[in-house]
Amino acid sequence: MESFSEIREAMRALCADFPNEYWRELEKTNAYPDDFIKVMIENGFLSCLIPEEYGGSGLGLQEAGVILEELSRSGGHPGACHAQMYTMGTILRHGNEEQKQTYLPKIASGELRLQAFGVTEPNAGTDTTSIQTFARRDGDDYVVNGRKVFISRAEHSDLMLLLARTTPKDECQKKSQGMSVFLVDMREVLGKGMELQPIDMMMNHHCTEVFFDDMRIPASTLIGEEGKGFKYILDSMNAERILIAYECIGDAKFFIDRAKDYANERVIFGRPIGQNQGVQFPIARNYTQMRAAEVMVETAAQKFDAGESCGEDANIAKLLASEASWAAGDTCLQTHGGFGFAKEFDIERKLRETRLYQVAPISTNLILSYVSEHVLGLPRSF
Ligand SMILES: Cc1cc2nc3c(=O)[nH]c(=O)nc-3n(C[C@H](O)[C@H](O)[C@H](O)COP(=O)(O)OP(=O)(O)OC[C@H]3O[C@@H](n4cnc5c(N)ncnc54)[C@H](O)[C@@H]3O)c2cc1C
Repeated sequence: MESFSEIREAMRALCADFPNEYWRELEKTNAYPDDFIKVMIENGFLSCLIPEEYGGSGLGLQEAGVILEELSRSGGHPGACHAQMYTMGTILRHGNEEQKQTYLPKIASGELRLQAFGVTEPNAGTDTTSIQTFARRDGDDYVVNGRKVFISRAEHSDLMLLLARTTPKDECQKKSQGMSVFLVDMREVLGKGMELQPIDMMMNHHCTEVFFDDMRIPASTLIGEEGKGFKYILDSMNAERILIAYECIGDAKFFIDRAKDYANERVIFGRPIGQNQGVQFPIARNYTQMRAAEVMVETAAQKFDAGESCGEDANIAKLLASEASWAAGDTCLQTHGGFGFAKEFDIERKLRETRLYQVAPISTNLILSYVSEHVLGLPRSF
């Protein structure tokens, strides 16, 4: 039996009102799914990880993951909203009580959107500790200068969690020190020190370049202690990896369902194409890959919810799930022959969407590097 069946059924009912045509149409104009987000918030799904005392439903990462998995499986695109779940964790775990009281209930009710997470920079990329965006303390404010790239949903969010250096890297004992996290109210600074420049992407992902030019933000926007921001965002990154892995499981199930149905229906040479083992074996293999990844994803989420260390599990889960979804997508396309390339089948769209997860939020190579160094004790390579 599937886990969390009540949540799954509720999500399936909700997603039925947002069929594949809806997501396909949005893509034509790079539009944001505002009405979908509204319904997700009204139903408490986007605030599921916010504790009840702050207006959320206080569920665990496993439930949150199942919500995103079902959305992916339906053919929808969680990229439009998933950050609201994991960025909030930084405020919850490291923010002060005033920040939590001010923001979390409003995020839970939908009055405020926290959809943007500003980490990546053009000159640093994966090497996060080399970021150059700098926040200089000036009285009761910080003054921020620098630039971010590929920041998703910034145009559709009220708040951004921003990582900036507050001490130059060469003045820190460790390169992971000297970075701080700020909760920036983008409504206050847009056009007044912060500019957004949309990037046209391979899929409908609402990415932007973000420019900071003497952007002044109150010192009260600092989350936790100055200089410890990298540690704070690492906490959120395990949650992010596990949630993305759930999305990949949903994508894999979407592809396997579609491939299986089509292989049963499509008759060529007088018999269903699925009667040929050359067609059925790849689908069966994808199913076994997806199931193995799913077990790993659930293990990682259970450990996260139990407060156990889960870095190894979160990374492995994300790697296996992203590869399983891509493999299943490739098979699904092949199974559909020419129709797989027709937009109305949604397979090519989902394939483009799921490809991202081998690159972002962290690339497969960097996960392998983590496993090599931190799990297997191989020499550090960078
Ligand atoms: C659609 C999309 C949405 C995104 N959303 C956000 C967002 O909301 N917020 C945000 O902060 N960022 C976001 N990103 C950025 C994303 O996290 C980065 O693209 C990703 O971390 C990789 O950084 P990079 O693109 O600079 O690649 P690079 O760091 O330049 O790496 C390029 C390639 O080289 C490989 N590589 C680099 N160094 C090594 C090494 N030492 N060993 C082996 N291989 C290596 C990498 O694995 C990668 O495949 C998004 C990206 C995309 C595409």
